[in-house]
Amino acid sequence: MKVLSEISEIRRFFNQEEMHGKSIGFIPTMGALHEGHLSLVRQSIAENDITACSIFVNPAQFNNPDDLKKYPRDLNADLSLLEELKCDLVFHPSPEIMYPSQSITSFSFGYLEEIMEGKFRPGHFKGVALVVSKLLNILTPDKAYFGEKDLQQLTIIQTMSKELNIPVEIISVPTMRESDGLAMSSRNLRLNSQERISAADIYRALYKAKSELNDGKSVNTVKESVKDFFNDNSQIELEYFEVVRTSDLKEVSKLEAGEKVSLCIAGYLGKVRLIDNLSLI
Ligand code: AMP
Repeated sequence: MKVLSEISEIRRFFNQEEMHGKSIGFIPTMGALHEGHLSLVRQSIAENDITACSIFVNPAQFNNPDDLKKYPRDLNADLSLLEELKCDLVFHPSPEIMYPSQSITSFSFGYLEEIMEGKFRPGHFKGVALVVSKLLNILTPDKAYFGEKDLQQLTIIQTMSKELNIPVEIISVPTMRESDGLAMSSRNLRLNSQERISAADIYRALYKAKSELNDGKSVNTVKESVKDFFNDNSQIELEYFEVVRTSDLKEVSKLEAGEKVSLCIAGYLGKVRLIDNLSLI
């Protein structure tokens, strides 16, 4: 497995004659890899000749400096996991390589960056889009893999690559969960043992909301019931709970037959922010 940190080295790697005609799968990550990330890598390995993964904690997408500072990092452990899976290439650039000067290019995603994550993390998706577009231009993959865990990010990247005619297929991969339902996340490493137990409330609330909607309760009633759940029974401070149309993340007030809907949630457990979503067919 090659581990490279310079953009010119990546270009040279893909310009080698033996690379010509080979399909490239790419997984952008911020490291502190877990089974969720690895499921994206496994899928890429199964579907492409060459799999490349990036590990870069992107300063441009953190609106909270403390969150950036405390973001878990363990490069050696990440590299061993990727090596074991037989990933072909890891791109691990420094912030100076990715941002040699202050970027003045800026993306705008209209309503998509004003709702849910965009509302509570202003500028977050501009930073995500900037780094992902750079990485797609550097690695030129045929397919890039993103987790459904970050549904709004997935929707924004799909929209961006379609609108900019980036020649890449965006592949969405289902969320991997711990046995109690908690969505795997690098941020889970920051939870203490008591918080780790409480963290599963996020999934419990989603599951309960899904059952209630399937039982015919109205969207408004279910939203109230989710608020009550967190007020009455949980250590988690709810930030938002939204019921949205999966195709464009527009809020829905009533379920329509045949329309795929997603239940999206974010909350704080102590200082750790957790997000998750569950789909309702
Ligand atoms: P991150 O390192 O958090 O930027 O995540 C890198 C990629 O892994 C993103 O596309 C995430 O959506 C995806 N991912 C993170 N957690 C999970 C999970 N539990 N299951 C599936 N994909 C995930």
